[in-house]
Amino acid sequence: MFNKILVANRGEIAVRIMRTCRDLGIISVAVYSEPDRTAIHARYADEAYLIGPGPVAESYLNAEKIIQAAKHHEVDAIHPGYGFLSEQAAFAEACAEAGIVFIGPQPATLRNLGDKIAARRIAESAGVQAVPGTPDKVTVEAAQIAAESIGFPLLVKAAAGGGGKGIRLVTKPEDLETALKSAATEAETNFGDGDLYVEKYLDPVRHIEVQVLADRHGNIVHLGERECSIQRRSQKLVEEAPSAAVSPELRARLGKAAVDVARQAGYENAGTVEFVLDQDNNFYFIEANARLQVEHPVTELITGLDLVQEQIRLADGESLGFSQEDVRFAGSAIECRIMAEDSEKGFLPSVGHAELVSEPSGPGVRVDSSLFSGLEVSQFYDSLVAKTIVWGRDRDQAIRRMRRALAEFQILGIKTTIPFHQRLFEHPDFVAGDIETHFIERRMDAETSSTPSAAEDSSDAALVAAALVSHARRDAGAGPAATGKKQSNWLTAARAASTNRQPGGGTWRSIF
Ligand code: ADP
Ligand code: ADP
Ligand code: MG
Repeated sequence: MFNKILVANRGEIAVRIMRTCRDLGIISVAVYSEPDRTAIHARYADEAYLIGPGPVAESYLNAEKIIQAAKHHEVDAIHPGYGFLSEQAAFAEACAEAGIVFIGPQPATLRNLGDKIAARRIAESAGVQAVPGTPDKVTVEAAQIAAESIGFPLLVKAAAGGGGKGIRLVTKPEDLETALKSAATEAETNFGDGDLYVEKYLDPVRHIEVQVLADRHGNIVHLGERECSIQRRSQKLVEEAPSAAVSPELRARLGKAAVDVARQAGYENAGTVEFVLDQDNNFYFIEANARLQVEHPVTELITGLDLVQEQIRLADGESLGFSQEDVRFAGSAIECRIMAEDSEKGFLPSVGHAELVSEPSGPGVRVDSSLFSGLEVSQFYDSLVAKTIVWGRDRDQAIRRMRRALAEFQILGIKTTIPFHQRLFEHPDFVAGDIETHFIERRMDAETSSTPSAAEDSSDAALVAAALVSHARRDAGAGPAATGKKQSNWLTAARAASTNRQPGGGTWRSIF
């Protein structure tokens, strides 16, 4: 077993990986950028290495520097987390050349699956239907010809795309050329590769993905599905397992399809096969993610497995050690991505100091987070600051626990997606499990675009004013807590702020 692992990532996922290292008695090494000097991952690790300035190209994407850090600290393996270098075949190769184990699939697999056109071919050759589309990359002319048979609306997609980038919805022929150009530019800028393909646009659909685990000895299992239909800009915000739309029979079919794709790709380690599911229960392959995913905890909570531990074991050459029949599912798990974004204003990124933070806990609640009081949320990195994950014996209990957790979560100084999640978890269609990938725009937008009232403004003046009101009410015995009425997040936050500013006002934890 490895003695020391370097985690080539930051934020919540770096900490999450280091936690498993600690469970296993493995020494963890962090790499951090200059603005991340005080970041939680740099402090949590047993050892830490400064890799460079804030911009990712000079720090978390600097493969050379990371290998240098790994050699300096004499690590046995590198865990890349998600994003950054996690799916870069060249980085996996560089690790191998340096005699360091890359915790993930083989470089050739990363290369094949990282190209979404090649991945579609792999799926089809495994007998799994991909969304109808072009088998090769397209020029403008080829796209125009293909569009005639595919029909409109269609999607223009970047072969190297990820994180919702490089995708354009085209509803009419005259918009195709512009969409191709802007998708190519976006893909070129973000991924250094402007290759495009065209795919039929299916609507309405649910995003259903299947977690797989594969060892080096030919054993592959699936760990069931995750539903990730609550998205904005084709990016996931809420994920759950199991999906309310998937019967045991459909689960078996999806699971088999995912395992077949993984086998065809020569897959090793943990990975995810993504599908879209239409209303008639037809599913189509869209892509495979050759890494740990943001939403992996929901699978952990219903299977009882530690996926990072499995990744480490598998990368060390161990056998899976269990079969498909041994995989058991219990209960229901849901994750909310807490983003530093203003969900009331089109999910615009919100930067600044996170001032005061209290994270939820209690029965069935897990928080994977990078938050602390004084955290500077910068524009350099992804806006994901924490994940709230709940487990319940069924979906109803999970929903109730998520409402509690969201109400307990207190973050000041930055805007977050918590108010959005709170509205979502009260939405009757969501509660009924009736969701699809355009749920937010189609069924919540009227509220999402509403302008915040003064009371929801987290500026200091508004907080102080709200706090004063809340104190006056509480003193009069008529505050929400006294009447047993549900207390809103802003009010709780305001009280917290007010207590913080007036020593002797009682500990703010007493409000729970
Ligand atoms: P998941 O299914 O794990 O949520 P996402 O597509 O949302 O996958 O990506 C997870 C993280 O990885 C996000 O921070 C996203 O910006 C980043 N990411 C995804 N694909 C790429 C890529 N090809 N290159 C760089 N970063 C990526
Ligand atoms: P990325 O690599 O950015 O994650 P995906 O190909 O996984 O890109 O697509 C991102 C999201 O876009 C999906 O989760 C789904 O909501 C939507 N999507 C992708 N392909 C289709 C399609 N053919 N029809 C309808 N929606 C799609
Ligand atoms: Mg995807």
